Amino acid sequence: MRRLRLAFGRIAQETNSLSPVPTEVSDFTRTHWFEGAALLKRCGSRLRKEAPGFTFNAELSGFVREARRAGRVELVPLFSAWAVPGGKLSVEALEFFLERLTTDLIASGPLDGVMLSMHGAMGAEGSVDPEAELLRAVRRVVGPDCMIAVTFDLHALVTADKVALADVIVGYQTNPHRDHASCGRRAANLMVRKLRGEIQLTTTWRRLPLVMGGGTTLDFLEPMRAIYKRIAEMERIPGVLGAWTYQCQLWNDAAHAGWVVYVATDGDPELADRLADELADMNWAVRHQQPPTLPSASEAIRMARDATWRRRLGVVCLSDASDMVGAGAVGENTALIRALIDEGRGLLSFAPIRDAEVVAQLWDQTLGKRVAVQVGGKLAPEWYAPIDVTGVLLRKRHTAGFGRAVLLDLGHVKLVITEAAPLVMKPAFYHELGLHIQDADICVVKSLFPFRLYFLLHNRMTIYVKTRGVTDFDAWRTIRYDRPVHPKDAVAGWR
Ligand SMILES: [Zn+2]
Repeated sequence: MRRLRLAFGRIAQETNSLSPVPTEVSDFTRTHWFEGAALLKRCGSRLRKEAPGFTFNAELSGFVREARRAGRVELVPLFSAWAVPGGKLSVEALEFFLERLTTDLIASGPLDGVMLSMHGAMGAEGSVDPEAELLRAVRRVVGPDCMIAVTFDLHALVTADKVALADVIVGYQTNPHRDHASCGRRAANLMVRKLRGEIQLTTTWRRLPLVMGGGTTLDFLEPMRAIYKRIAEMERIPGVLGAWTYQCQLWNDAAHAGWVVYVATDGDPELADRLADELADMNWAVRHQQPPTLPSASEAIRMARDATWRRRLGVVCLSDASDMVGAGAVGENTALIRALIDEGRGLLSFAPIRDAEVVAQLWDQTLGKRVAVQVGGKLAPEWYAPIDVTGVLLRKRHTAGFGRAVLLDLGHVKLVITEAAPLVMKPAFYHELGLHIQDADICVVKSLFPFRLYFLLHNRMTIYVKTRGVTDFDAWRTIRYDRPVHPKDAVAGWR
C-alpha cells in the first residue's frame, strides 16, 4: 500500500457582515495561531488543547488521529488560524491568507490530499465568496487529482463554488456544536478510503430559499430533533457516506444565503438525489417555526428580580441576543448596561463591554481610584450610543483572547471593559478579573448557546434579551438576500 501524503490546516472565522468592524490578521494571531510541527504536536496528543482557551479537541485533532489510525499516512501540517466571529476580513487579511496558503502548499511538495477546517460563512471586503477563493488557491497548487476535504460549521453558507471546489464537505450535526472532532475524523476517514479506492465519492446538494426557520434550531428540541434523527437513520443506509443540513449564517448580506442540504454516497447518485430531496422537504416543512420573541432589557431585569430563589441558588444569565459576540457582534452594547445601571438596583450584575480607548486611558491609573469615563458606541455608533459611567478602578489584567481588560466597580454593576470583542462564553471571563459568578444575581453573556454548557453549574435561569444590534433574530427583515426568500416572501416551494 502506497503511503499517502495529507496536508491539513485551518482558516476559520464566522463573519457577521452587519458589523462595521473589519477582521484583521492580528485578530487571528491574537486568538489562535499554530503552524508546522507545533500544530501537529497540538493535534496529535490527547493531553494538549488544540485551541487553548476555547476547545480541547476540534476538527484537526479528529483528522490527525483518524489519519494515524488508518496507517501509512504522512501528515503535513500547514497552519491553524481562528478568530473570534466578527466583521468581514479586510482586503489585506484575505490577501495574506491566499498568499500564505499558496506558499505553504508549494513548500509541502506533492500531496494526495488537503483537509481544511473552515467556518463556511467567512466574508471579506471585495470578495463575494472568500472561502471559495481560498479553495481555488489550493486547487491551483495541488492540481485536479489531489483530494480536497473541508469541514464547515452548521451555519456555513454553502455555495456552488465551494461545492465544486471541494471533493467533500463535512459539517457539524449538532447545535450547540459539540461534534468538532468527529467532523475531522469523518473527513480523514472519507479521504483515506477514497484515495485508496475503497469508495467512490458521489455528492449532491440542494439550496432552499430559506434563511430563518426551525424554531430554536437546537438539535435536541423539535422541530429539528426529528430531522437529525432522520439524518442518523439515513447514515445507516448501506452506501450512504453522510448527510448534512446547513442552516446558514443569518446576519450576512451575501446574496447566496440560504439553508442547504448535502448528501454523500458511495457511487450512487440516485440514492444521493433521493435523500437530498427528502431532507430538503423536511427542512422546508419547518420553515414557519420562527424563534421566540425575546423580552426587552427592562422586562428581562424584572424577570430576573422576580426569580428570587434562582438568584439565591445561583445566577440568572442574560444572553445579549442583539450583541452576540459569538455570532460576530462588536460587543459594545451600551443599552443593556444602561438598563442594568438604571433599573437593576439591588441586583449585583456582571457585564462586559468592549472599549479599547477606555482600557488604554485607565491602564496606567492607580487601582482604587474613582474615575469617570465614556464607554461604548465608538466602533458601531449606528447601533449604540456611548454612556457616561463613574466607578472605582478595581483590577487590570492581560487576558487570553480579549486583549487587556479592566474592571470598573459601578456599585451594583461590575463592568469588565476589554480591548477586543468580549466573547463571554465561560465563567473564566469574569474569574480572570476576580469576579465569581456565584456571587452575582445577573451575569451578562455574549454567546447564544455554548455558554449554557460552561455556566451549567451556576446558571439557574437563562433569559435572551433583545435591545437592538447586528445579531437580532429579525434582522432578515432588513437584509438584502436573493429574492424570493422565506420568511421575507411567500415562497411556494423550495424546488
Ligand atoms: Zn454555528
